[in-house]
Amino acid sequence: MKVAKFGGSSVADANQFKKVSNIIKEDKSRKFIVVSAPGKRFDADFKITDLLIQLGHAYLNDEKYKSYYITIMDRFQKIIEELNLTEQLLKEIENKLKNTLTSDLADHDKLDSVKAIGEYSSAKILSAYLQTEGIKAKYMNPKDAGIIVEKDASGAQLLPESFNLIYKLRDEEGVVVIPGFYGYTNDGILATFSRGGSDITGAIIAAGIKAELYENFTDVDSVYSVNPAIIENPKEIRVLTYREMRELSYAGFSVFHDEALIPAFNAKIPVCVKNTNNPSASGTMIVAKKEEKEEKCVVGIASDTGFKSIYVSKFLMNREIGFGRKLFQILEEEQVSYEHAPSGIDDMSIIVRDSQLPDDKEELIVSRIKNELKTDTVTIHRDLALIMVVGEGMKETIGMAQTATVALGKAKVNIEMINQGSSEVSMMFGIKANGLNRAIKSLYHAFFE
Ligand code: ASP
Repeated sequence: MKVAKFGGSSVADANQFKKVSNIIKEDKSRKFIVVSAPGKRFDADFKITDLLIQLGHAYLNDEKYKSYYITIMDRFQKIIEELNLTEQLLKEIENKLKNTLTSDLADHDKLDSVKAIGEYSSAKILSAYLQTEGIKAKYMNPKDAGIIVEKDASGAQLLPESFNLIYKLRDEEGVVVIPGFYGYTNDGILATFSRGGSDITGAIIAAGIKAELYENFTDVDSVYSVNPAIIENPKEIRVLTYREMRELSYAGFSVFHDEALIPAFNAKIPVCVKNTNNPSASGTMIVAKKEEKEEKCVVGIASDTGFKSIYVSKFLMNREIGFGRKLFQILEEEQVSYEHAPSGIDDMSIIVRDSQLPDDKEELIVSRIKNELKTDTVTIHRDLALIMVVGEGMKETIGMAQTATVALGKAKVNIEMINQGSSEVSMMFGIKANGLNRAIKSLYHAFFE
């Protein structure tokens, strides 16, 4: 049994729904289908989820919301008409939207419920369309599928008892279409995962039913070794391990939501990234362990901007017992989560995402560190980019760091920070964001050309 998840671009319009239906028809083992909300049809288009969020906020703040409402309903009307589905289905979606807006849910619950209507509608439309195409298909609410979650500020968190409930779905007949992106609390309240969370639903269902394969359909033929916006036609990756994918998606590879692989990883379900617009392309497999050792020890180079570092120095820091704990405790108390913390004998840099340390919080953090830890210097370095050179094979290969640093040197990029975890799956370089494209081109040349 396979689980196939179709992202926003795969259900962006009626034609895309037809492609999805053909893909499902082609392989009888594609039994569990998870869908996103309709995404963008072209660059300047809107994602339905974004429109729903704007609608929800406007409604709750007593602002004008009609234009969002109309744009959303027009989009569904067009899809439904072009697929020759019934007016009744459109009414059902409209009623769902109206009833949710006017319900007596608390504001944050209402917002989640409005946000989820994109996925609800995609699943309703796809199941109805599959039926008209002669496929025995049914819509299944995530609650009935067994996705039980807890609400959390950073998005719903799955409760482990879900997996046993989901396993029972194996007995369902025909194709089961489940909306991605949300689950229900034990009290029956809808809660959405973080943005891009339909990937999480796909991985949860795949783990729960113990799928032979989790197929993640998107709009690229494979995962690329580097961002195609920086390098034209970069090499495609055939096989990746979960850990490599995690490192790549952490640092800007937007193919996957970075939490999404955890359920599939824990259940050792192989994942395949495929293209709805070119389903015969073989795609990229993501597995626990590669069967053959690859020639290339670096599989990909990922990069992301939007980082700052807090540089802290104090003479004899290395001898001061408890220094690190006190420093991290300040961050914990101020609710700042950090990404990396490369250190020297008398200094330490703590790298954080900009969103974790907004400008108005900097002064407080700096003064707390200075006063409570009696440091020599505390400074904030802004506009940083991180580059991750990723590959499990680096572990056994000598000279990888040298190849990378020589490439950065050739590109005239100053390395502000270097970090290599003991797992040796990745090497991290912190540089000024304005040198990023130069750095990536040079690294790609050194490792892949
Ligand atoms: N529709 C949701 C979003 O745009 C979830 C998803 O597409 O995965 O974030």
